[in-house]
Amino acid sequence: MLLITCPYCGAARPEIEFRYAGEAHLKRDPASATDESWADFLYFRTNPKGYHFERWRHTHGCGRFFNAVRHTVSDAFVTTYKAGEPKPDLATLIGEGGR
Ligand SMILES: [Zn+2]
Repeated sequence: MLLITCPYCGAARPEIEFRYAGEAHLKRDPASATDESWADFLYFRTNPKGYHFERWRHTHGCGRFFNAVRHTVSDAFVTTYKAGEPKPDLATLIGEGGR
């Protein structure tokens, strides 16, 4: 069973309590966007084979959105952190040379 730690509730809970909510740290700025950058924002996302910054929601718990760093191949969660907090340094989290 995959366990995910909600940064608001603080406890590791089963994956079925959570819902994936897309890529994290996307900036929405329609006022200064060009047609091309706006189309990129709307339709294109990164799809890495490795570590990915993601938004999740604790749907069957506190209901709040948070961010997580997850490895897309192994499904291992490196960390979770509250929405609005800065993007953590990946090299620090996984150590230099990690993939
Ligand atoms: Zn929660």
